[in-house]
Amino acid sequence: MRRSLEDSYRHKGLRKKLVDTVREKGIKDENVLEAINNVPRHFFLDSAFLDVAYVDKAFPIGEGQTISQPYTVAYQTELLQIQKNDKVLEIGTGSAYQAVVLAALGAKVFTIERQKKLFDENKLFVYLKQYPNIKFFYGDGFQGLPTYGPFDKVIVTAAAPEIPPRLIEQMKVGGKMVIPVNNGAAQQMRRVTKLEQGIEVEYFDNFSFVPMLQGKNA
Ligand code: SAH
Repeated sequence: MRRSLEDSYRHKGLRKKLVDTVREKGIKDENVLEAINNVPRHFFLDSAFLDVAYVDKAFPIGEGQTISQPYTVAYQTELLQIQKNDKVLEIGTGSAYQAVVLAALGAKVFTIERQKKLFDENKLFVYLKQYPNIKFFYGDGFQGLPTYGPFDKVIVTAAAPEIPPRLIEQMKVGGKMVIPVNNGAAQQMRRVTKLEQGIEVEYFDNFSFVPMLQGKNA
């Protein structure tokens, strides 16, 4: 993959327009909008796709996977209510765009990817060195990261068949998980709050994600 790591005035201008689009679609959290404005999304795509980087759409990144739509990234991030220094577990690193948006908000991010090729690609992605508050793992998100928990927040960026019980176990009491759960052809966004006993679930809009799959893929 060839990346262009140059952020021109043109890119900055396109990003401002993208922020306007995301705001018009209903995102209100100014910190989230500022993070979208500050993170150069074109860095996360092959340089052949520079022109689509600031269109509010998901885009293929190889291995049949996608970089999430900016609106979706903003939506999930807003629901997470990130506080500085929150420990956040992300399932589905993909391009690492969502992970960087979380890190830009001051979170300590632990992100897991099951596709070895995508995991390896991020090791070569020099821009990520600016974010020592993101730790990358190759593994199965259904298992989470028991030795690094408990987490304040969990974000799942693939379509989950159900709320994975291991991830609930790894949340702090009062912690929140934002997860798209299969509901026919689409997924309904849910926000799960862990209580002293059990969980509380809130239901939000429908989205379309690539599937959350079991196990690792070499
Ligand atoms: N957060 C990403 C979105 C990537 S799409 C971004 O900002 O670009 C979802 C990703 O989840 C894919 O890369 C897919 O390989 C990964 N994935 C699917 N099931 C998984 C699992 N069980 N554990 C870890 N990653 C998984």
